[in-house]
Amino acid sequence: MRIRVALQRALGVLAVLSCWLALAPSPAQVFAGRPKLIVIVVIDQFRGDYLNRNRDQFKGRGFNLFMKEGAWFTDCYYDYANTKTAPGHATIGTGAYTDGHGIESNEWWDASRSYELKVSSVEDERYQLVDLPHDSIPANMPGAPGWATKWVVGASPLNLRATTLGDELRLATVGRSRVYGVSLKDRAAILPAGQAANGAFWIDTASGHFTTSTYYMEHLPEWATAFNAGGRAEQAAREANAEGTTQFYELVGRTPAANSYELDFAKALINGEKLGQSGVTDLLVVSLSPNDIQGHQFGPDSDFEQQMILSLDRDLDNFNTWLDQTVGLQNVWMALTADHGIAPIAGEAAKLGVHAVAVDMDKVYDTLNVELNKRHSHGAKLGYLLPDPDLPYIALDSRTFKKAGVDEKSAEDEVAALLPAAVASQNPNPLPVLKLLPPTVVQPSQQRLPPAPHVQYVYTRIQLANNQLPPSEWGRLLAHSYAEHGNWFVMMVLDAYQMAGTGQFAGTNHFSPWDYDRHVPLAFYGTPFVPGEYHEPVAPVDLAVTFASLAGVNRPSAAVGRVLTEAIKPAGASAQR
Ligand SMILES: [Zn+2]
Repeated sequence: MRIRVALQRALGVLAVLSCWLALAPSPAQVFAGRPKLIVIVVIDQFRGDYLNRNRDQFKGRGFNLFMKEGAWFTDCYYDYANTKTAPGHATIGTGAYTDGHGIESNEWWDASRSYELKVSSVEDERYQLVDLPHDSIPANMPGAPGWATKWVVGASPLNLRATTLGDELRLATVGRSRVYGVSLKDRAAILPAGQAANGAFWIDTASGHFTTSTYYMEHLPEWATAFNAGGRAEQAAREANAEGTTQFYELVGRTPAANSYELDFAKALINGEKLGQSGVTDLLVVSLSPNDIQGHQFGPDSDFEQQMILSLDRDLDNFNTWLDQTVGLQNVWMALTADHGIAPIAGEAAKLGVHAVAVDMDKVYDTLNVELNKRHSHGAKLGYLLPDPDLPYIALDSRTFKKAGVDEKSAEDEVAALLPAAVASQNPNPLPVLKLLPPTVVQPSQQRLPPAPHVQYVYTRIQLANNQLPPSEWGRLLAHSYAEHGNWFVMMVLDAYQMAGTGQFAGTNHFSPWDYDRHVPLAFYGTPFVPGEYHEPVAPVDLAVTFASLAGVNRPSAAVGRVLTEAIKPAGASAQR
């Protein structure tokens, strides 16, 4: 009797097992993996004209791999207005804009989470950073040194509302494809890789050692621990003349030494995780941060920028050659792009006569607050705006407006109406009132007067949310820029080449819908592509969609891009790959 029960149980287990085996997809049912590896190289803050400016000086198979052996699109523009790092990287991964992927800026005010601090696009207090060097452990983590004061939380793609190319590869292969992101910056490693990524690695800003978040893993993989222990960060610091620094991100991160440092980590990752060896398509996104860190300081026209580009050309030649010798370039598809462009330093553009000017937003805020206090709180000194403006967004303090009995629509309409005059009041040389009969004949000025700060347009959150936008190209750019994050705000766009800043030569920025902020390179390398220089207007959303189509997987969930068929070989030719 007992034997019969045991037998029945065993048969039952077998039946369940065979049923499960029948349901589990066999390798043949899942995606037939090709190529072995996709590598997307993102250069942080790399304007679309940089390749053309320097093309005569490129050597080897760095940028030339994309420009001479690949399909190079010279006219690639983001189709949205908030040209920042986090939304740009999210767009590269998802093939969608902010209205699809949910990332509006690098950080934003979220009244539902905090009135004290902005929320970063990837911070997530449910997770912790992993395997930090002892001196970098923050005050809120076990093992912190006694003097630690910084409070640092983990990170995840919690705000990313769309899937990426990597996510779709993982879904198509039932998890067999492996997907990774690498950058100096957390947001640039996490967002383009996606929700289902196996890992994203970025640096501890003090030491330069790579870390990750418990969202992905409890500890760094052995190869990453070995990389951190191998003295490579210290070598990069020496190359950057910053030996022994505890400000790796700022002092080493802004030099070419950090590009080769990141690419060496990418090589260690490909080796350590055996990418390209599992019979399905793996994906690696490498976002190279140094150009952005130095670019904000010195601008696109400095000698530093050119040195960075030519040095990166050599680093990419080295990386691409290594990739050829290990995985084999015939097995790899690659793409090159950037998360946004950049404006020239305002003072430099103004020298040429362009109406470029840096606008002191603290003074604009003071002017606005004085007027709002006059209207709503009898001249008190209440703050109606949340501090630290991050254009194009101006965040309102809904608590102060609510106390004054002003609702969101009225508050946003009022700030939008006040902004143009508040910005114009920063002009030290306002236009004189035109008189019908001038008392004296006006002579042409011997020297051009300084440019006047000017607001091109302002839209309120409510207008953006309800698509109350002009039926024009501008309206489309704005509609693509909206995501709901629980804050009251207005979106302000200054005239072209005008930006927030404390001096005409105090650095530069990217944040606007103007073409120089939206123009980035887009180039592909791999057997499916017809080499050539293409001048059709394209957008970074086309990258993920084109790769998804060629790989035969679903495009990412909110993707709006186009398959770039003009650069793809006829089916017969690509089938031979
Ligand atoms: Zn960036």
